[in-house]
Amino acid sequence: MIACIEHSSFVHDSDAAENGVVHGGETLDLAGIRGTVDYSSSAKNSVAKDFGGLTRVPPRVLVRPADSGDIAVAVRAAAATATVTVAARGNGHSINGQAAANNGLVLDMQGISEHPFRVVVSSGAEPYADVSGGALWEDVLKRCVSGFGLAPRSWTDYLALTVGGTLSNAGVSGQAFRYGPQLSNVTELEVVTGRGETVICSPSDNSDLFFAVLGGLGQFGIITRARIPLQKAPHMVRWIRLVYSEFDEFTRDAEFLVSQPQGDSFDYVEGFVFVNSNDPVNGWPSVPLDPDQVFDPDSLPPNSGSVLYCLEVALHFDHRDGPSTVSLVKFVVALKAHGVYSFCETDPFWGESDHTVVEQLLGRLRFVRGLRFEVDVPYMEFLLRVKRAEEAAKATGIWEAPHPWLNLFVSKRDIVDFDRTVFKDILKGGIGGPMLVYPLLRSRWDRRTSVVIPEGEIFYIVALLRFTSPKGPPVAELVGQNKEIVRLCTKKGYDFKLYLPHYQSREEWKQHFGNRWTRFVEMKAGFDPMAILAPGQKIFSRNH
Ligand code: FAD
Repeated sequence: MIACIEHSSFVHDSDAAENGVVHGGETLDLAGIRGTVDYSSSAKNSVAKDFGGLTRVPPRVLVRPADSGDIAVAVRAAAATATVTVAARGNGHSINGQAAANNGLVLDMQGISEHPFRVVVSSGAEPYADVSGGALWEDVLKRCVSGFGLAPRSWTDYLALTVGGTLSNAGVSGQAFRYGPQLSNVTELEVVTGRGETVICSPSDNSDLFFAVLGGLGQFGIITRARIPLQKAPHMVRWIRLVYSEFDEFTRDAEFLVSQPQGDSFDYVEGFVFVNSNDPVNGWPSVPLDPDQVFDPDSLPPNSGSVLYCLEVALHFDHRDGPSTVSLVKFVVALKAHGVYSFCETDPFWGESDHTVVEQLLGRLRFVRGLRFEVDVPYMEFLLRVKRAEEAAKATGIWEAPHPWLNLFVSKRDIVDFDRTVFKDILKGGIGGPMLVYPLLRSRWDRRTSVVIPEGEIFYIVALLRFTSPKGPPVAELVGQNKEIVRLCTKKGYDFKLYLPHYQSREEWKQHFGNRWTRFVEMKAGFDPMAILAPGQKIFSRNH
């Protein structure tokens, strides 16, 4: 009964007279695809740009695969030509065209996002979810929490990113100090390799492919399914921001918190730098968590410098012996809607022991007394917090404007010098968006994966999340500033790596991977010998 609709749908327009014909008269034969094959200019334009908005690279064709079988057909079709490359596009939230395929084939991975989704809970074993590589993390969250009261352990700050996209990089947020990045929290993958073969892999089966693909920048295979371990989702989160005027006190406290055993610390630890001024975007107003809270600069020590630091922590808690999660959340939302519910010392859902844990932890920290902000929010609202920022940015148009972002991992050894030269000097006026800086632990990163990180046990993620506007400095100037920062890190001999890396030459990639380069090249030869996959990373060139 189904067989009659198992034909691909082809969309053409007048610009696409050549359709499947590629250079030299070869044909790109996509006839076996069950999803959509779209040669129209509008389709190609829709994927020509990414979130960065710094490049425009239209493909020859956009394929919306119906399932992983379609992905294998597409890769094999490209392999049968001499020139066509294939880029999996998650949600296109790269900055420098990493999900593009110049004149090649782009796969819209969200097409397969419904297949599969399965949560398995069995007694005595850790629960897990099987999710599509094209699924958005926000959908994984909603389905796991609402349907099963379970959730993955490790997140990104923003969740409109795909499972395959973040696992190809790392996937980092404030839980990574405890559980490692997302790539340390996956137990099985289904992958379509550059040879067009569909392979199931795990740490014990086809482990070379499994570890190569994780953090592999899309070079070895396309992730069509991932198995993600789950844990019980808490009901609520106490979300706290603490202000510091001194970087060494901020780092000392952040490092203390991430080094404590589970149960003796917060469930989430992040931090950011902000400008010591009343600038609405870059300064004091960026810190309070609730419109009713006020940042009082009189609390700051008189010798405070050009920039200040904010430690952001969160503790999960449950409503014990009371209403179910759903009714609790509804109750909190209703109270909030009436302006009744914001944090108070006598929070109705806050147990005495939770209180003691938080106060004991906070009592040890050296933040500026008087500059502590906190709210209690339902767990999902906490994880979806950046969605609110997205909605606000979309309303003002800055979501669609270019984002010349720079992400780095900088070793603890060099982070004080980095603060002195970059935050306190080059960026002392802010960047029109968040400047994240918080510690991670190398031992939580599975070293068998492809991602490269600094050598020291403690290293910091530095994320310069720039937002631009026509009234601000030209984008080229900001890109130049990023380059200056990277050059400076290199010149000073910092132990650092680019996160979400982007280079133009093979030599730079070689340097990035260091002693892991030979292995990376070997894996490429094994799993994608014609260099068909993820050409937008500019690591390898297509060969026959
Ligand atoms: P894309 O940008 O579409 O793809 C990225 C790369 O992965 C490309 O090379 C692509 O070909 C490849 N790829 C995509 N899907 C697959 C697949 N299924 N199999 C194999 N390869 C694939 N990162 C963090 O770690 N933490 C954060 O908190 C965080 N927050 C962010 C917030 C915003 C607003 C943005 C724009 C980005 C953020 N990122 C964060 C970065 C994000 O992890 C990367 O952009 C990542 O690439 C995921 O985006 P995507 O799913 O849109 O993938």
